[in-house]
Order: sequence, then structure tokens, then C-alpha cells
Amino acid sequence: MTYDQNNIFSRILRDEIPCNKVYENEYALAFHDIAPHAPVHILVIPKGAYESIIDFSAHASSDEVSGFWKAVSHVADQQGITKDGCRILSNVGANGGQEVPHFHVHLLGGVFLGPILFKKL
Ligand code: AMP
Repeated sequence: MTYDQNNIFSRILRDEIPCNKVYENEYALAFHDIAPHAPVHILVIPKGAYESIIDFSAHASSDEVSGFWKAVSHVADQQGITKDGCRILSNVGANGGQEVPHFHVHLLGGVFLGPILFKKL
């Protein structure tokens, strides 16, 4: 699958669409999810063109990987969700329910989130 340059997160990175930014470093951008599922719901995205966590893990440079995960950690601390716990997840592809084909992690917290979100067989 080729990376879709017109996906919404790619457009946010090009400043064509605004976002509610909470943090940025050389390799990552973090902003509030537009439809939050928890009191804290932040998306962290890499600045490079990777469609999923699988693509990112396979093809990003060590600096990109490091810079991205440092940003995730920084934002979790910044949002005050480290101490009481949080959920960090990344949907992949059709079965994973991924809507935006640019790798992102969801940081969810600020409330007890219950069991992991998947349907029973
Ligand atoms: P996923 O289903 O993992 O691809 O999640 C995509 C997420 O992006 C959803 O939680 C949406 O609410 C969120 N989203 C879509 N468009 C925007 C936007 N313009 N700004 C912030 N979040 C967005």
C-alpha cells in the first residue's frame, strides 16, 4: 500500500489544516483528538510519511524512532497521566479499525479505562 499524501494528518503536518497542538519536536507532533474518548486523549504522530506502526517500525531511522517515542513519553508526563496510568494504543489497517492512514498513537487517560478494548470471540 502506498502512503496517501492527502490523509488528514499529512495535511496537518503541512499546516493545511489546524490542530490543537500540545507538543512538537523534530520528529513528532502531538495534538488533541478531535473526538475524545477520555478526559485526556492526545494523538502523537511522526513527521515522516509512515502509514502504520508496522511501517514505522520497519522503515524509520533510529533517530526518528527515538524522537517519536521520546515525544510520547514527554506528552504523557506533560498531560499528568503517567502516575495514575493510561492507555497507549495504535490501530493498524482495516481489521484494526485504523481510520487515518498515517501512523499515530492514542494516549488516553484521566479516568479508569476498564478492560482492553476488543470484542469477545
Ligand atoms: P484511528 O481510528 O486510530 O485511525 O484514529 C483516528 C483518530 O483521529 C480518531 O480518534 C479521530 O477522532 C481523530 N481525528 C480525525 N481527524 C482529526 C483532526 N482533524 N484533528 C484531531 N483528531 C482527528
